[in-house]
Amino acid sequence: MPDRLDRMLALVRRHRPRVRLVDRNTVPWMRLPGELARPFVGDINQRFTTVLGDVVYLPGPVERFDRDHLAAVLAHELVHQLDQARSGPWFYASYVLFAPTGRTMRADWERRAYAVDLLLAHERGGEQAVLATRDRLVTVFAGPSYGFMWAGRASAERFLQPVVDAVLDGTLAQQAPYRDILRAWRGEDAVPPEPEVA
Ligand SMILES: [Zn+2]
Repeated sequence: MPDRLDRMLALVRRHRPRVRLVDRNTVPWMRLPGELARPFVGDINQRFTTVLGDVVYLPGPVERFDRDHLAAVLAHELVHQLDQARSGPWFYASYVLFAPTGRTMRADWERRAYAVDLLLAHERGGEQAVLATRDRLVTVFAGPSYGFMWAGRASAERFLQPVVDAVLDGTLAQQAPYRDILRAWRGEDAVPPEPEVA
């Protein structure tokens, strides 16, 4: 019986048949930016997942992660993979180059991906969980984690609010790719079991 991680991986493979999960700490050039940023933001290599094309660079060996947690991470990264596929070099250039702090393109891409985190919070704990996740994301967007990609807590909260609203009123769950992600999370793609005969 495929579990949540199996189902999410199957969804990712539909878009990225050659997807691979790699421990970023085993890849020297992937470690380097984290080493440089460590004095400012702590150890990224132990905390952050990064995706480049087919490869998802995890902050540790695959076996170390809780399977549901990994399913949620893959769902977030899938949004990046789809945006990377659609926008090509523009994705990477706009992610790192333009407006390095304050009001960044990076924040637009991350808002699309963190919409998954808000959606899954809604699945787990309804409105209360969504609002708690929003508060955590305000810190992520306004703080040093991604280089102050949307500086100012009040401003970051306003920036995130449309996505929060779309999760709470159910419209996000109707949109691609979020609809497919939610189905994989819930297991709605699975063939329903045979009815039990008493
Ligand atoms: Zn992201």
